[in-house]
Amino acid sequence: MAYLGIPKNTIEVLQKYNFNFQKRFGQNFLIDTHVLERIISEAEITKDDVVLEIGPGIGTMTQYLCESASKVIAVEIDNTLIPILADTLSEYDNVTVINEDVLKLDINKIVEEECGGRPIKVVANLPYYITTPIIMSLFEKDVKIDSITVMIQKEVAERIISKPGTKDYGALTLAVNYYSQPEIVANVPPNCFMPRPNVSSAVIRMRRYEKPVVETENKALMFKLIKGSFLQRRKTLVNGISNFSELNFTKEEVAEALTQMGLSESIRGEKLTLADFATLSNILNKKI
Ligand code: SAM
Repeated sequence: MAYLGIPKNTIEVLQKYNFNFQKRFGQNFLIDTHVLERIISEAEITKDDVVLEIGPGIGTMTQYLCESASKVIAVEIDNTLIPILADTLSEYDNVTVINEDVLKLDINKIVEEECGGRPIKVVANLPYYITTPIIMSLFEKDVKIDSITVMIQKEVAERIISKPGTKDYGALTLAVNYYSQPEIVANVPPNCFMPRPNVSSAVIRMRRYEKPVVETENKALMFKLIKGSFLQRRKTLVNGISNFSELNFTKEEVAEALTQMGLSESIRGEKLTLADFATLSNILNKKI
């Protein structure tokens, strides 16, 4: 078996198919067997698992996934990679390659068909230009997921695990932490990829909660409050929310809610925890 994690083998495949990297698809292929082994181990895959891989590329990580999981569903947007994958994955009978844009795919339907409703594990070296939409759509579409273990830009991983009051803390942090427990499990330098990206990378594992850690009577309202609070970071939460076009609360109503919570009227959104936003949404929900 020609493992593609070995650079020589990747180069051979690229030359054989005269493959041209497409920047617009965020194509940076892994060429480091240690990193690949680490991702597989941190993803905690067993022979019972069905894995969804987003963007298999030439099949580098897919080879490892096929060997450790019961079944792999790999979704690749670039049709020039499909014949290459047929070649590099020819030894495996437990992989299905779907030539689609993952953001347009009905993943719930696939999970239902492929695993009879059992939760899947998502493992990927993500295309960085759509990291946030991919992660958020998996959570928001309520896909039955056990965990998501993905390579992303280090800077985005740091935003996801950041704490209230820090510069990285924001809407993405709160959204991911509402649905899951995130943890950075590896840092990966640019020289582990071909071509080398301009940024450093990190592998983040998000273990999905069975039920969210905070209780909110109106989840949509909570996320709108979060959005309004971080649209203009330098504004106070009262100004941010009362000026936010998607909501209809007055300055007085927001200030009163903050006082009820024992918080200052001049507080900024970045100081509030997820639990604070849940409480705020429950108070303001009564005004709707
Ligand atoms: N998994 C491979 C590896 O680690 O070597 C390739 C990872 S590369 C960073 C990202 C892959 O995602 C590319 O193969 C790219 O063509 C694919 N991709 C980009 N946008 C996509 C989309 N919207 N849906 C599915 N795949 C996509």
